[in-house]
Amino acid sequence: MSKANASPLIDRRHLDFLLYELLDVERLTRYPRFAEHNRETFDAAIELAHQIAVEKFLSHNRKSDLNEPQMVDGKVVLIPEIADALDAYNDSGFAAALADFEAGGMQLPFVVATVCDSMFSAANPGTVAYPALARAAANLLEVYGTDEQKRLYMQPIVAGRYYGTMCLSEPQAGSSLADIRTLAEPRDDGSYRIRGAKMWISAGDHELGENIVHLVLARIAGAPAGVRASASSSCRAGASTTAARARHVTTCAWPGSTTRWGNAAASTLSSSSARSTTATVTWWDRQTRALRRCST
Ligand SMILES: Cc1cc2nc3c(=O)[nH]c(=O)nc-3n(C[C@H](O)[C@H](O)[C@H](O)COP(=O)(O)OP(=O)(O)OC[C@H]3O[C@@H](n4cnc5c(N)ncnc54)[C@H](O)[C@@H]3O)c2cc1C
Repeated sequence: MSKANASPLIDRRHLDFLLYELLDVERLTRYPRFAEHNRETFDAAIELAHQIAVEKFLSHNRKSDLNEPQMVDGKVVLIPEIADALDAYNDSGFAAALADFEAGGMQLPFVVATVCDSMFSAANPGTVAYPALARAAANLLEVYGTDEQKRLYMQPIVAGRYYGTMCLSEPQAGSSLADIRTLAEPRDDGSYRIRGAKMWISAGDHELGENIVHLVLARIAGAPAGVRASASSSCRAGASTTAARARHVTTCAWPGSTTRWGNAAASTLSSSSARSTTATVTWWDRQTRALRRCST
């Protein structure tokens, strides 16, 4: 994004003022986690996000509105530009914007990653929902997941191979999540059986990745009313509707407080080819490659 050129997405001078003068984000590089960063790397990430947002996301914003997802032979069919945009997003490492360098991530400060996200959101709020929900699922697994759950479900999301959802709302419980009825019944092996119906689940089914990790909010059987007794689990993609998928899912969770997040063994992967990036490639390599691809 040349500062001299007008951007269709953002006023760069205003952004620079907020980031570097008002918030003084360069000070974050004093912390060990961000010590390898500097203003140049922040700007490079923002520049790349802007470039991909304009070339790959903004370009099909209108077309997406005119061509809603269709269910064809049991599969969700999207316009091809969405997969193309998400390939560019994943290949350039934005699925791993917050992840550690060792995990192939950019290890960006949250504020800079948020600026990058804002480019995609400004360009195309529909398409960005797929990776945004996936990252939310990965973040949750990073905080609450076991090492095995992180390996099985979080890492593939960060690598851009899997997507994710947040299955919270139900037909009778929109904003009022304390009223959810989906039930998590503990089983002898430490897993949970989930029964219930979910509704309004964004990115609930598609063929963009190898799998979709569904984090399903549920009440633990026998728990008191209110928000303090819930569990969440994830299931593999495959069923044709989100509600159906949430009905009979075998899950596992770990002991802890009455609020639990767990996830299921994804024994079978859904269809679609892998469009992953290699986690061992550093984010700078990715950026250079992506910049080259965008500029050719
Ligand atoms: C495009 C889209 C994508 C979505 N994606 C997801 C998703 O991925 N996962 C998911 O779980 N859910 C998703 N939802 C559901 C969303 O999170 C909300 O839960 C849902 O839209 C609100 O429920 P409702 O329509 O039944 O409205 P209600 O909750 O019934 O609200 C109706 C009205 O009452 C007001 N209201 C509600 N509660 C209160 C209160 N306590 N005090 C005062 N006013 C109140 C609301 O502001 C609103 O005006 C999505 C919704 C939309 C529209």
